[in-house]
Amino acid sequence: MQDTEPSFLHTGFHSSAQRFPDRPALTLDGRSWTYAEVDEVARRWAAALIEAGKRPARVGILGHRSLVTYAGFLAALYAGATVVPLNRKYPAARNKDIAERAGLDVILADDGSLAVLPALLRAMTDAPPVVLPETGEVPAGFPDAPALVLREGVESREPLTEPVFPAPGDVAYLLFTSGSTGRPKGVPITHANVTSFLRVNADRYGFTEQDRFTHTADQTFDLSIFDPFMAWAAGACLMPMDTHQLLSPLGFLREHAITVWLSVPSVAALQARKGLLEPGSLPSLRWSLFCGEALPAPVAEAWQRAAPGSVLENLYGPTEATVACLVHRWDPQTSPERSVNGIVPIGAPYPGMEAVVLAEDGTPVAAGGTGELCLAGPQVFAGYWNAPELTARAFHTTGHGADTRRWYRTGDLGRVAEDGEFVYIGRLDTQVKILGHRIETGEVEAHLLQQEGVAQAVVLAVPGEEDGADVLAAVVSGDGIDMDVVDKGLSESVPPYMIPLTYHLLDTFPLNANGKVDRRALREQVVSGALEPFPL
Ligand code: AMP
Repeated sequence: MQDTEPSFLHTGFHSSAQRFPDRPALTLDGRSWTYAEVDEVARRWAAALIEAGKRPARVGILGHRSLVTYAGFLAALYAGATVVPLNRKYPAARNKDIAERAGLDVILADDGSLAVLPALLRAMTDAPPVVLPETGEVPAGFPDAPALVLREGVESREPLTEPVFPAPGDVAYLLFTSGSTGRPKGVPITHANVTSFLRVNADRYGFTEQDRFTHTADQTFDLSIFDPFMAWAAGACLMPMDTHQLLSPLGFLREHAITVWLSVPSVAALQARKGLLEPGSLPSLRWSLFCGEALPAPVAEAWQRAAPGSVLENLYGPTEATVACLVHRWDPQTSPERSVNGIVPIGAPYPGMEAVVLAEDGTPVAAGGTGELCLAGPQVFAGYWNAPELTARAFHTTGHGADTRRWYRTGDLGRVAEDGEFVYIGRLDTQVKILGHRIETGEVEAHLLQQEGVAQAVVLAVPGEEDGADVLAAVVSGDGIDMDVVDKGLSESVPPYMIPLTYHLLDTFPLNANGKVDRRALREQVVSGALEPFPL
């Protein structure tokens, strides 16, 4: 039953391990693992996790494009646990916050993360046991507690004979996204949520064991779910790029004859700006998928010309509704004129999902009117992790009895075009996307206000000077601010992508008619250059 009905995030891999044991499941740095090999690693590591974490409910994974990142994710699922991705690029304070709030029972880490792991463990009040399947000796600087299981200890474990399959309503993964009040919000996604997403995509794309996927997103971003789990459900091969290849991915794509591409549009936009999207230069691609931020029509056009044998689609969705739940198929003839403000439509809801445009009070907006895009259906999460008030604010409820619908409020402004497809207009709040990363500017502001001397802070997304892609600019006021110290302090509390590129000092902030800081005026001053960056 479990193998034919994809009820769990790990069902697809498990079933492919039986159907295609000798086919490659994963290739990293020129080394390949078959399905049978990855399956055995996952079953063995799952046994180690179960023992170290005493049947763990939640497993933290600290790894970057390694066997731990991929087989380790599966191992945590095979152990019947919720996966909680950590990120070695995050400062220790942020990983600690995630680890403690998630209540991790065990941490699985790769060798490449040993430089940051001791600081994380020392920062935690009650660090859980740690499993290091790639590490032979106790790493330098490792604290006395917690318990540590090294490579030999893992290798001596008898692999589980079968993965643990929990309840479909159990949480498969827990991701933390930027929170406007200064702390990330936990988004728990159940096996039922994510298998609904995977099933729609399997039907839509018909991937086979001949497909070759790569992987562009960090594990802390939910886009990262798509490639491994879609590939593995089909018996296909996952070929993640390393950090260097990610910077100029097109050569990798050609060299490995990748057939399925998914990335944030920024990656394509950067290649287009560098003039690298030569017509016909990406012949192996069958599917070109973009998701995570607004897709500019000229970028779609350029990519489609570079990959003429592929079908190009714009996928839309927030983490809270499991990766993506609306989609528009690019048509070189009709899509350009259907784009609004140069942005490709986000299309129609996935089968089983519903989308509506609602006013602030939860009532429907008249046909064709602009309002908040709200989502309902099997991919929508139940609510934020241990945050009932945030959850209450995140939903509208409409209808009565059997018609009751709980709508997730995306904070995105949208409308329904005449052709019935949804178009994306912008944000209702100050959430921004920088190279696809979701950032609540309020979160950066909250951390800036904790730095010495900072009395007021406003963080804005502005077009960058180098290539026009948006960057963050911070405007701050206060007496005797040492900007180097502020920048350093910030880098100890938020991920690198949340650090402003420029800082601007101002004595008094302009106010709007409501007496609030006039963000628009500040933005104009930054963009026009009237407010010069502070030299760092
Ligand atoms: P995340 O939770 O990081 O996936 O970010 C979700 C947000 O990204 C959405 O609420 C939108 O603001 C934005 N987004 C995602 N996909 C698209 C898209 N195709 N077009 C425009 N905005 C998008």
